[in-house]
Amino acid sequence: MKSAKYVFVTGGVTSSLGKGIIAASLAKLLQARGYSVTIQKFDPYINVDPGTLNPYEHGECYVTEDGAETDLDLGHYERFLNEYTSQANNVTTGRVYQTVIENERRGDYLGKTVQVIPHITDEIKRRMKILGDSGKYDIVITEIGGTVGDIESLPYIESMRQMIWEYGDDNAIVVHLTLVPYLAAAGELKTKPTQHSVKNLLELGVQPDVLVCRTERHLNPELRKKMALFCNVTPNAVIESIDLRTIYEVPLVMLKEKLDKVVLGKLKLSSRNEPEMDKWRDFLFKLEHPKSEVNIALVGKYVELPDAYKSINEAFIHAGAANECKVKVTFVHSELITDVNVGNKLSGFDGILVAPGFGSRGIEGKLEAVKFAREQNIPFFGICLGMQCCVIEYARNVLGIKKAHSSEMDSKTPDPIIDLMEQQKKVSQKGGTMRLGAYACDLSKGSNAARAYGKTHITERHRHRYELNNKYKQKLEDAGMVITGVNPETGLGEIVEIPSHKWFVGVQFHPELKSTVANPHPLFVRFVKAALDK
Ligand code: GLN
Repeated sequence: MKSAKYVFVTGGVTSSLGKGIIAASLAKLLQARGYSVTIQKFDPYINVDPGTLNPYEHGECYVTEDGAETDLDLGHYERFLNEYTSQANNVTTGRVYQTVIENERRGDYLGKTVQVIPHITDEIKRRMKILGDSGKYDIVITEIGGTVGDIESLPYIESMRQMIWEYGDDNAIVVHLTLVPYLAAAGELKTKPTQHSVKNLLELGVQPDVLVCRTERHLNPELRKKMALFCNVTPNAVIESIDLRTIYEVPLVMLKEKLDKVVLGKLKLSSRNEPEMDKWRDFLFKLEHPKSEVNIALVGKYVELPDAYKSINEAFIHAGAANECKVKVTFVHSELITDVNVGNKLSGFDGILVAPGFGSRGIEGKLEAVKFAREQNIPFFGICLGMQCCVIEYARNVLGIKKAHSSEMDSKTPDPIIDLMEQQKKVSQKGGTMRLGAYACDLSKGSNAARAYGKTHITERHRHRYELNNKYKQKLEDAGMVITGVNPETGLGEIVEIPSHKWFVGVQFHPELKSTVANPHPLFVRFVKAALDK
């Protein structure tokens, strides 16, 4: 059995430095050198998972194959590594405490006072080791959410310190990400915040092994030397991470900076061959040299925070490169769309996507957007709630069922064409109880979906409680909206299409979650192509 080595990634000075991207880039390079790598993230908040968080709070909730509702950084891990993550890859303080409290109630600690040290830290360490102990990985990269010095991250830093003590310096190291700000008035880059944040770590008993310095300007050799000296790291372990145009450049820049080699050196692992990054380079070249451009409207209600639609945006980037075109995504606020202004808001776009969502805010605007795309024959893609809107709109405006609605928005509608799933009717708790994770779907031969996937049996990830009400299936199909994807076990309608339309596809699942650099999602690729052909 393999025994894994550990790389911890911490952040100092400020949040939003891009720890997730650095972790994913390092993982990518190690993978490209032939190591088996996985990444896990520990989030210091008290929610058991981000499933019940409003997207405004925390951006998109990323769903794994096994149905875990996780932090959006896991999306980056999958997009970079082209490998699935799972429940074990994302742990929150809430989850840790939940386990410890359940243990306590069961009597596991009988007689003892249950405390942060050792009970909480032991549970954190147990979870830090799960993937490493699976025997599947050479290296486990563990990202600690939050910023060093935060009260809530203290138990994680302490657990990390104990892991390093247990495994030894050659088997567990710390990559610390910091900010080196440029002070325009002084005309200088400043290293003091980095020194202070390393000091912070040292006070907690942890000496970082590698510094990754986020910066707007290049670090000169003196600055690097100064940081190495004052932060007590080897001179080769000060890595510059300059601001870049796209996150997809980061692995290549980290390769130039030798982040992967330095890490392998510290872990006493051989660098093996130069990393195989040709496909990645090819993708990046296409991304940066588009031959044409398409304009897509993304209609949603969380548009003030682009992170709410992270995976959709990234899927468009992958699909754009695959089509050698730039996909310009414009967010259109669904609450501001009315039957009067819809033409104004949406004409001029080559494609329209109606986004996932919950609750009734902005729903009428989404329905107007669907109607406009359908009537104007503009390539259309509806995802989850976006698919449900396709069905409601068709029922109202083509079948003439004027009061058709989803029972999520109108519990008294006489025509619940979208209705609560049978299994959901007994569910009262909100956390982790949706239809989550991968489910199978059979596609109709000759449909847009089957053409895109190139096969008729697929699996896709879900996150919803409502579904197309099969009582209306025949009526819809007779009127020209066809159900082209069905779950084989339950008969749930997962995909709708209008064959007479240029390209009109609504999917109950979330295809964006499975789009990666290596495997751009076929539905996004086809949607962009349809928009391009328009
Ligand atoms: N609110 C809808 C449901 O629960 C759609 C969910 C979504 O778009 N993810 O079924």
